[in-house]
Amino acid sequence: MLSKAPKLISPELLDQIKESHFMLVDDEPLVTDFIQLYLQEAGYNNIISVGDPRRALKLIDTYPIDIVLLDLNMPGLTGFEVLKILRKEPRFKYLPIIVLSSSSDAHTKLQTLQLGATEFLSKPVDPSELILRVRGALTVHAYQRQLALYDALTFLPNRQNFIEKLSMEIKRNAFGNRDCETAVINIRVDQFRRVHNTLGPQIADELLSTMARTLSDFLQKVTICKGNQAKELWKSLSRTGADEFSLLLTQSDNNTVKVLVTGILKQLSRKYLIEGHEFYACASIGIAIHPHQGTMADQLIKCASSASAQSRSLGGNTFEFYCEAVDSHDKRRLRLDVALRTAIENREFQLKYQPKVDPKSGQPIGCEALLRWYPKNNEVTSPNHFIPMAEETGLIVPIGRWVMRKACNQLAQWHKKGYTNLTMAINVAAAQFNDVNFVDDLVAVQQLNHLDLSKLTVEITESTLIGDIELLIKKLNTLKELGVSISIDDFGTGYSSLSYLKRFPIDELKIDRSFIVDIPADTEDNSIVQAIISLAQNLRLKVVAEGVERSEQLKFLNNIGCDCIQGYYYSKPLSSEEFEQYLQANYDPDHPLLPPTKHSLA
Ligand code: C2E
Ligand code: MG
Ligand code: MG
Repeated sequence: MLSKAPKLISPELLDQIKESHFMLVDDEPLVTDFIQLYLQEAGYNNIISVGDPRRALKLIDTYPIDIVLLDLNMPGLTGFEVLKILRKEPRFKYLPIIVLSSSSDAHTKLQTLQLGATEFLSKPVDPSELILRVRGALTVHAYQRQLALYDALTFLPNRQNFIEKLSMEIKRNAFGNRDCETAVINIRVDQFRRVHNTLGPQIADELLSTMARTLSDFLQKVTICKGNQAKELWKSLSRTGADEFSLLLTQSDNNTVKVLVTGILKQLSRKYLIEGHEFYACASIGIAIHPHQGTMADQLIKCASSASAQSRSLGGNTFEFYCEAVDSHDKRRLRLDVALRTAIENREFQLKYQPKVDPKSGQPIGCEALLRWYPKNNEVTSPNHFIPMAEETGLIVPIGRWVMRKACNQLAQWHKKGYTNLTMAINVAAAQFNDVNFVDDLVAVQQLNHLDLSKLTVEITESTLIGDIELLIKKLNTLKELGVSISIDDFGTGYSSLSYLKRFPIDELKIDRSFIVDIPADTEDNSIVQAIISLAQNLRLKVVAEGVERSEQLKFLNNIGCDCIQGYYYSKPLSSEEFEQYLQANYDPDHPLLPPTKHSLA
């Protein structure tokens, strides 16, 4: 069982049921008096009694009525006609209407139910039966409201509900001419998409439910300067998007907001253990203030949301107040996103190839294809910037497919030119790897280019290996059967346990540049790199060190048995023409043990 069994009705709605507004339409005062008494005894106090059905139809337009008790035989307009009129109006379509009538024949009952009555009760009314039916009708009505205005997963108010609450708050401020500020706080779960894509929607949903519980517990406990503020806070907590919550803080100043959001971040940022999966998650918070950032609910929500996007782009687990600069950063991101969508058809992508070198001979063994984007109407951005963006929007799948086609075609050309042992590594993002068409695409590309797939390496990161283990093993084995090698990129930076190295059919580890940068001066890094290499040797895996820039790094790595080097020491990533020149100068299939040479063709 993943989550706690959901409650049928939220506590807030149970409160509302007691506060329901009744309209009693009956021309016999004695009947209305008795019914009013029964209802009051049961705790329902908001009752309007109307003797004239025409007046009732007028009143129902101006009063917020939750339930109608309707007599059938009245002068002027019958209960049947009132029913017909009310049910025609969309907003009264689901309003509970209980018909009370002295005629209890089957035909009358059937007729009222066909006209849309919720219940039928015969007069004289039995008090306990009346209360039972009323409670039933109100509960169903409340449940319908809950479906429309509450999130089914967390049972928090939904976006629509939040907009209504915020709009009411804005009106209240305007009517009361109150000189105070209301903060709209947007809370986004930083790791939601990653957890969703790697561990599946159920675990992602459970993460959200857990966070929702943490938030409402915290908000019920927290005391914010003025009296009943905390309860109000808890009531406004809403789920306003797939991975986000929102909250209202009325009559607040910036300091109070800061204290509150710091508390929220502290509560949410931690390790989560869900269904045996342990992972870290946190949130990014954005704040917009009414009236400074707008006087419309939509506007305020948008500003809070762009401020939280800014917090996330700063690394997450932090908060930002909305400011114009945030907006321009957001707009820039949006522009980039739009541009990225047309980058393939506009031929704005290119591949660069960075040599992978045997440190003993200095000979290139192969290369890694690295994507570059030269947008026509935008500044050039690094893959470290646009690849995560493409991953967030799912664009990485078509982009990754383009990379695979281009790189395989290039490799086939180089094989034809005589560099028959040359290998090519491509980076494959988790979403691309998990895409159902991934293997089929690869087979199609192989057939088109008559490519020897034993010369292709797929670089994935540790995060790709989280999820349905059986499915992953199956996919990896299919790739292996095709001859493809599997490399774990940025090795050492993931959170996962090392046990996966034994379970998955992996060929190579690429030690992340962060461990290479300070060797051999940093003894801790030296030990880590040595440990990774001996682990790889024990498991018969090849080791590549990336980001090697200096001869002393190369010497150290060579001495401890690193199989392959990639880094500026040998070469920066090169265009296909430059890489070919590099090959002409260094590739010698007959003499694989040439001394190391340094090249600067970049
Ligand atoms: P990566 O796969 O770990 O690639 C290595 C990165 O380190 C490349 O950055 C490379 O240019 C850089 N690098 C290599 N040697 C050195 C060195 O000696 N010193 C320094 N300072 N840097 C070095 P690049 O090309 O900017 O790519 C960054 C990341 O973007 C890649 O890291 C990879 O994760 C991602 N990426 C690049 N192309 C693709 C692609 O086609 N698909 C996917 N999914 N990701 C890609
Ligand atoms: Mg890579
Ligand atoms: Mg890497």
